Amino acid sequence: MSEPPKISQACLPAAAANLLALAHGERCVPSECQAACCPGGIWVDILHVQRILDAADQIRPYLAPEYAGEEDAWFSEEEMDHEDFPSGLAIATAIVPRPGQPTRTGCIFLRADHLCGLQVASEALSLGWPGLKPLDCALYPITRSAGTALYDEETTADNPHADCQRPRSTPLRPRYQVFRQEVELAIGAAGWQHLDQRAKESGKP
Ligand code: SF4
Repeated sequence: MSEPPKISQACLPAAAANLLALAHGERCVPSECQAACCPGGIWVDILHVQRILDAADQIRPYLAPEYAGEEDAWFSEEEMDHEDFPSGLAIATAIVPRPGQPTRTGCIFLRADHLCGLQVASEALSLGWPGLKPLDCALYPITRSAGTALYDEETTADNPHADCQRPRSTPLRPRYQVFRQEVELAIGAAGWQHLDQRAKESGKP
């Protein structure tokens, strides 16, 4: 998909309490977390899969060399039907031994420097944000489903090392501030401003 869907303003009240809650740290950095959120790959809308495959020759230089030449193996044959995907159908990225860390597994687009090859390629090719990076990866730990956007409490509780946060000594900030980029991607800049206004009206930080 070229443009991520924006969540309706009308959905904000249901998500507000979740997004206004305090985060427990500040944003992670890949060199420390080592892409803890990428061990299981991601479901990708079939239309976006086609976009990635159409750009295979352009993105190959930015992927892990051991997997760059195998576009037939970039995605598994597993399928998922779900209305959250614009086409209604998604397939998963392949899971492989991590470049440089073969005892660990990860998404096939993960590089030895713990960066997402699709993100690095998109930046190098000036494809904008999120470019070729799958939307659900660009949003995480914010998740969007059934017309609403939330901090993904379930996944982050199950995988505490993959909550995209690291400890900080200064006062905690709300999730919508720590993950501003992700929230704006999900609900737009106006949606983020709406949350900020609610926070100010309620006297929250
Ligand atoms: S596509 Fe990129 S961000 Fe998403 S799981 Fe794979 S390596 Fe991680």
